[in-house]
Amino acid sequence: MELTTTKFEEEDHCPHCGYELTAASSTNGHVPSPGDLSICIKCYTFLQFDENLKHQLISDEDIPVEEYLALTEIKTQLLLNK
Ligand SMILES: [Zn+2]
Repeated sequence: MELTTTKFEEEDHCPHCGYELTAASSTNGHVPSPGDLSICIKCYTFLQFDENLKHQLISDEDIPVEEYLALTEIKTQLLLNK
């Protein structure tokens, strides 16, 4: 799996566990933009970027089913590669 990693200009923290998030990785070359979904590499909570590209909590029911499945797949990969 090819990963594109984008470093954040300002450091951010996971709103769930407080882990310092310094970069985001994508499997399709995508650069983070507002509204994108992400996942904490520490606690595996699903997150969403706000308009300032800060991580926000998002509840499972607010995530479209296809994106939820994709995130779950990524989470599984992260857990397997721990
Ligand atoms: Zn976290």
